[in-house]
Amino acid sequence: MSIIEKFRKFGITVGEMRKALIIVDVQNDFCEGGALAVSHASEIIKPINQLILSNKYSLIVATQDWHPANHISFKINNPTTGIWPAHCVQNTEGAKLHSNLDITRIDAIIKKGENPQIDSYSGFYDNDKINKTGLEKILFKDNIQAVDIVGLALDYCVRFTAEDALLLGFTTTILIDYTKAIAPDAPKALAGIIDKRINLKYGMLK
Ligand SMILES: [Zn+2]
Repeated sequence: MSIIEKFRKFGITVGEMRKALIIVDVQNDFCEGGALAVSHASEIIKPINQLILSNKYSLIVATQDWHPANHISFKINNPTTGIWPAHCVQNTEGAKLHSNLDITRIDAIIKKGENPQIDSYSGFYDNDKINKTGLEKILFKDNIQAVDIVGLALDYCVRFTAEDALLLGFTTTILIDYTKAIAPDAPKALAGIIDKRINLKYGMLK
């Protein structure tokens, strides 16, 4: 454990906080025309690119939903409990990060949802919280103390990623206007249900 990690354990911040940007699932299938399209999703890509180029972050990580074709969350595989259309199937066009996303300065791409038997909304773990994706390890290795989270979709993968980040001890902020949600009222509803220690920041960062 590094000195910074020891301090962080006791809630002490040393110097300037090292902050990471986590870009959740900005993939073709979640954008307009995709298998599980989120309305107006592609509108957040340009603002996210501006964040990437802003020098605000010590580390920039993107997550990528990456399911085998027999994934349990797909209705077609599991008509009783599968709730999603087949999406982000490994090595398909739909699973690719959107081509307008500037990946040149992204330090790591973390794949999630690879186990056919369980879904993975969070960028940190499968939904059973047993299998880790490796995101936590990358953040700790870089002595990151705070994370800003953006991407798709606010009410699922962004939310669950933020909740895990908080539990892991990171100062956690969701940049609401750099996300889009599946449920139209999610940006409002989320404020009432999400842990109050997660900062919800509105507007564009200067
Ligand atoms: Zn998925």
